[in-house]
Amino acid sequence: MPELPEVETVVRGLQGVLPGRRIVGVRLGKTDFIDDPDALERELPGTYITSVERQGKFLVLNLEGAPQGNAKLALLIHLGMTGQLTTCAPEFPAPLHTHVFISLDDGRELRYRDIRRFGRIRVQSNTTGPSPLASLGIDPLAATADEFQGQLGERRARIKALLLDQRVFSGIGNIYADESLWRARIHPARLGANLSEAEIARLRSAVRRVLEEAIRLKGSSVSDYVDVDGLPGEFQLRHRVYQRQGKKCSRCGATIRRLIVAGRSSHFCPQCQRGPRKTKAKASN
Ligand SMILES: [Zn+2]
Repeated sequence: MPELPEVETVVRGLQGVLPGRRIVGVRLGKTDFIDDPDALERELPGTYITSVERQGKFLVLNLEGAPQGNAKLALLIHLGMTGQLTTCAPEFPAPLHTHVFISLDDGRELRYRDIRRFGRIRVQSNTTGPSPLASLGIDPLAATADEFQGQLGERRARIKALLLDQRVFSGIGNIYADESLWRARIHPARLGANLSEAEIARLRSAVRRVLEEAIRLKGSSVSDYVDVDGLPGEFQLRHRVYQRQGKKCSRCGATIRRLIVAGRSSHFCPQCQRGPRKTKAKASN
């Protein structure tokens, strides 16, 4: 958290205000979540923001006009658990835990606030070493049916772990993994390699529907997530299983349960989403 829909919402908000703007200054507070704080202060001032995009859960600000000349420069921002990226007038009082202030030539400020500081900020150029974007798996919204199937087909790992693995699918986290598995009626502890083609097709369609609906509702605000204007999302009101243990399944009325799968808490309906053992027993009858 934040996951693909929240990051996409922030990116869309920033796309309306950042492209074309020149960075005139950088001011930093705490910097332990920044790969190379000096690089931010040294490389960013004087550059133009040409575009803003999302890759997995990373926001990417593409820059040109770097002082070093032809270096391809980008600012990568990962919101971690509690990162918030907003734009506002510089005289607007900065809330506690605001650690990065980027001044723009239109007089506004782009601010990064992060209470727990599990986020990450990095200047990426062709001289700063391998990009963390290079290891990202396929984007679940862009993946074709064949690509989606190809990522899961042979893997002997639990489907929940595969959905969370950023090298397999980029952008999905705990909320959207649980919500997608419930919609596809697949138990989180099933092995990827044991899913039928029909189940994988159902999962792909569930993942896309969940992510698209969440983007439309500007994401889920379960902890500190807000959009670029500081407003919360609304998809948390549509959650069917995530953090709803003990409540009734809206499809069948059974009680939603919570189980640790692949080290993460997983929320599911024991009736709609049959576990690996039950599936096997049923198949042998
Ligand atoms: Zn159910």
